[in-house]
Amino acid sequence: APQAPPAATGPRTLVVGASGFIGRFVAEASLSSGHPTYVLVRSSATTSSSKASTIKSLEDQGAILVTGSIGDKEVMIEILRKYEIEVVISAVGGATILDQLTLAEAIKAVGSIKRFLPSEFGHDIDRAEPVEPGLTMYMEKRKVRRFIEEAAIPYTYICCNSIAAWPYHDNTHPADVLPPLDRFHIYGDGSVKAYFVAGTDIGKFTIKTINDDRTVNKSLHFRPPSNLVSINELASLWEKKIGRTLPRVTVEEDDLLAAAAEMRIPDSIVASFTHDIFIKGCQVNFSLDKPTDLEATSLYPEMQFRTIDECFDEFVEKIMGGQAAAEKAAGKEGIVVPASAPDALVITATCA
Ligand code: NDP
Repeated sequence: APQAPPAATGPRTLVVGASGFIGRFVAEASLSSGHPTYVLVRSSATTSSSKASTIKSLEDQGAILVTGSIGDKEVMIEILRKYEIEVVISAVGGATILDQLTLAEAIKAVGSIKRFLPSEFGHDIDRAEPVEPGLTMYMEKRKVRRFIEEAAIPYTYICCNSIAAWPYHDNTHPADVLPPLDRFHIYGDGSVKAYFVAGTDIGKFTIKTINDDRTVNKSLHFRPPSNLVSINELASLWEKKIGRTLPRVTVEEDDLLAAAAEMRIPDSIVASFTHDIFIKGCQVNFSLDKPTDLEATSLYPEMQFRTIDECFDEFVEKIMGGQAAAEKAAGKEGIVVPASAPDALVITATCA
């Protein structure tokens, strides 16, 4: 039976995109910190059973469901007023970034929102300059930023870098699948480092900022030293976890550029970001020297990030769990890491 939600305290927070990949982590963190948490649900959301079960789970954890779409200004104004929303966090996906302009217009019209976190959750989009089609998405995110700033809506931009998982160059949600069990694709020489942050930490630190006056009108960068690794190091870590080595296949810079140039959405967007991260070093090639820059481990020294090592342990547990269940069903004993992941082992990682 679901646990009774804790008595809600803290700002009345509306999460947009809670049924999505990143939004779910944010909504769960908001709920577990005890904030009154409102979740915007489009009426079409019930058509996908996995989305419906995410929404049901959030409701069981105490979320209050509100029906609407951010593309409808009048409805959003009504929702913000009716529920006296104080904080709006948006985690809409790449296809609907510009719909946030209408949401921002509603926030501006209501005038009482204390903080707006637009859908960022990646790189510093004013600094990074990926090739197309990633650049178009950044230009849309930049438009949203400029609107918010010009409207003087108090904001925080979450620059959390990569989610902790194997960085597949054609997968928008890499944490939903296991790291490879057959061979590694290594981008370029594999030596460029990136920050891999657990999805639960993306949620936790995002929620931390909304109660913190220091983060008003700032960008919060996530740079935990224990999560800074190259793809070569990530491959070695995974080999250590599964107890065997795997072939390494080089994916050259030109291969990534060609995948980006195919303009298949969303795969080509991911290829352009993969190029930006692992060839150009977009997460590590600048220092945090603007007055608007903040860094999460310095700002919250009392809070721990899950290490990449711990995150990869969780992937192993998923394999072992799947394997043990399969073998139990087959009446066998003993656990062997499979040579390749059967479909049944495609998982939703909690450490993602
Ligand atoms: P998803 O596509 O998984 O989810 C999008 C969510 O937004 C869904 O819940 C969807 O609801 C909701 N939504 C979309 N349009 C509207 C609307 N008009 N009104 C209300 N709700 C709407 O998004 P992602 O999690 O992939 O992306 C979120 C952000 O995170 C993006 O900015 C993306 O760039 C970033 N990201 C970062 C990653 C990283 O590694 N750092 C990885 C992946 C994403 P519905 O259920 O109705 O469709």
